[in-house]
Amino acid sequence: MHISRNAFTNLASSMIGFGVVIGLGFPFAVLAAGVPASVALTPGFLAFTVAAGCLVGGVNILLARLLVRPKLRLMAHQMHEVEEGLKHATYTGDWTNCDPDECALPVDSEDEFGEAAAAFNRLLRALAESHTVEERITDFTNAMSAELDVQAICRAAIDCFRRDLGATGVAIIGGLGGGLEVLASHGLTDPGALVETDLVRHAIRSLRTDSMSMPEHLVIDAAVARLKPQHVIVYPLVLESTAIGAVVLASSGEVPRSAQALGPLFIRTLSVALSNALSHESMRRIAAIDGLTGLLNRRVGLDRLEHDYVGSVHRGHPIGVIMVDIDHFKQVNDDHGHLAGDAVLREVASAAAAVLRGDDYLVRYGGEEFLAVLPGAGSAQIAEIAERVRAGATAQPVTVDGVEVFVTVSAGYATTEDQRVDDAMTLVARADEALLLAKRSGRNRSVSALALTA
Ligand code: GH3
Ligand code: MG
Ligand code: MG
Repeated sequence: MHISRNAFTNLASSMIGFGVVIGLGFPFAVLAAGVPASVALTPGFLAFTVAAGCLVGGVNILLARLLVRPKLRLMAHQMHEVEEGLKHATYTGDWTNCDPDECALPVDSEDEFGEAAAAFNRLLRALAESHTVEERITDFTNAMSAELDVQAICRAAIDCFRRDLGATGVAIIGGLGGGLEVLASHGLTDPGALVETDLVRHAIRSLRTDSMSMPEHLVIDAAVARLKPQHVIVYPLVLESTAIGAVVLASSGEVPRSAQALGPLFIRTLSVALSNALSHESMRRIAAIDGLTGLLNRRVGLDRLEHDYVGSVHRGHPIGVIMVDIDHFKQVNDDHGHLAGDAVLREVASAAAAVLRGDDYLVRYGGEEFLAVLPGAGSAQIAEIAERVRAGATAQPVTVDGVEVFVTVSAGYATTEDQRVDDAMTLVARADEALLLAKRSGRNRSVSALALTA
């Protein structure tokens, strides 16, 4: 029965109405119980029973107000507080007013009020958890979109896997040049061996997440001991129904349910980011590499030289360059054809590159001209390396269609230890002049730029 929109007013009306009905009915009940009508049916007795009924109803209302209203008020107040806190958090990111511990209702009865309070507290907790998940996903997505470099993306992903997913060992597997390799890892001994494991192969082939407990072949590096992981999970990295790699997460303890739920969300974001980064990287590599010889092309090679030149000068170290040119190469083309010429170019490039040291590199400078850059090379080293390059490139005949083609090369070299130059290109110009001298003085030799001033 709804008399007003206020439940307590309704309750009061109902209880007093009920009291009046009981009061009116009571004289007839006592009549049936044997009380004489002269007593039961007097206006005084009727007024008394009606008043008693109203009194009981009134006391009930009072009790309900005293016992129930404060609980409902507290609940309404807390809900209002959380609502205000949520509004504030939406625009400021400050969630302190929605803290489940601060805003929780006391669960002090085993009735519907207790249940309602417990449900409210659970709601708060679910809200806080969903906020944490949202925050972690946002962090992860931001980290993934901040970089286009494969290594930087992998490092950022590994940090998040460790912090948010409780992973103690991580390996990110992907392919830069067709095959799969470990792009980055943390905390695993011999991560490279993972690529060949059934677990990883199966995840990549089936595009399904695989997990196993206590695997035998994985060992996690720990600061003091080597821990066997308790749990390993392998996620395939999938883009448009194609596996582009996999992520192996190993943990030395139980992985919380919330962390397990975050995993697939992180992996989806990582798949897109890594795919973009890998395409970018391979495009960058393609753009930097000379298609015929596989060496750095002139533009990228000279950029790198510029960079290394500035670095060497800054550190007070010498830097040397060797300009190499194949002798009478036009004749090779004329005698054996351009395809044979191409094969010779490839062989000379790989023979020359093979004799260089770790940090040195060879650039295809022009048609049949190569530039070797040697950071740190002073007078003594550069003379020796130039001679090694010349001899290496000349040593073996190149067999084309069963015909052996012999070529020689000439080299001119210069190092900042011998030359006072203002920039990298002046050093290259000195080496080029020395090369011309080598050509003029008979070819198949290496000549220092020092000879230009002698
Ligand atoms: P030198 O000993 O004075 O250096 O004589 P050379 O014949 O080597 O020099 P020249 O500059 O007259 O000729 C270079 C030749 O290299 C001409 C050009 O057709 C050839 N060449 C340049 N790039 C390529 C290439 O990519 N493939 C082939 N097959 N030939 C090339
Ligand atoms: Mg030549
Ligand atoms: Mg030339």
